[in-house]
Amino acid sequence: MPDETPMRPPRGDQAVTAPAERAGRKVKATVLVDPELCKACGICVSLCPEHVFDHDANGLAVAARQGDCTACRLCEWHCPDFAIEVRAERSAAEEDA
Ligand code: SF4
Ligand code: SF4
Repeated sequence: MPDETPMRPPRGDQAVTAPAERAGRKVKATVLVDPELCKACGICVSLCPEHVFDHDANGLAVAARQGDCTACRLCEWHCPDFAIEVRAERSAAEEDA
């Protein structure tokens, strides 16, 4: 049976780059979790390949290791409560390329 997990489409103003295409490039990312929307389901904590998230004392997700984020956006697309926003900036070297 195919995976029917709903995928949140990327927003129009956000370029999506596959991780393989980003290999070797530095991506500075800011990961924002809205505590008013987070339901502490833990999906992002389990899903993030870079282990960026921890649970806080109330079980809510916190982006504890933002420096490890590669801006893959898996967390943003899979959060069922739309509580995560990933803001990626291209590195200066990439802008010059
Ligand atoms: S996936 Fe969304 S709702 Fe679930 S813990 Fe992460 S931020 Fe909270
Ligand atoms: S964008 Fe990717 S690497 Fe960054 S926190 Fe989300 S799942 Fe982890």
